[in-house]
Amino acid sequence: MVEGERGRRGVAWPGVRGLAFVRGRRAGGVVMVVRPPVPHVAMRPLWRCRNCGREWPCQPAKLALLTEYRGDRMSLLIYLGTLMHEATNQLAQLHPEHPPTGMTERFLSWARARG
Ligand SMILES: [Zn+2]
Repeated sequence: MVEGERGRRGVAWPGVRGLAFVRGRRAGGVVMVVRPPVPHVAMRPLWRCRNCGREWPCQPAKLALLTEYRGDRMSLLIYLGTLMHEATNQLAQLHPEHPPTGMTERFLSWARARG
């Protein structure tokens, strides 16, 4: 899965889009390298977008999901339902005094087939 791969590569660089600082081998100093763009994926357990920092799924994430699951709306809804369950639990743990609301809107409503 994509997330595991990201984990192996190490740190995400919040707020630094496409750029990261790494230690240069020769100079021993800090150099700037171009990284592939950060995808619009959820940052657990905050459920904010790794790229744009908005509540996930952000607009680009929705678009990507709709494209990925084009022609298989049922699988998309099942997937989103699973994520919604996970997000609800994690957010409720983070903020026990303010349990998350509007999760169905946020995770499912936009993905339902129209018409
Ligand atoms: Zn985003």
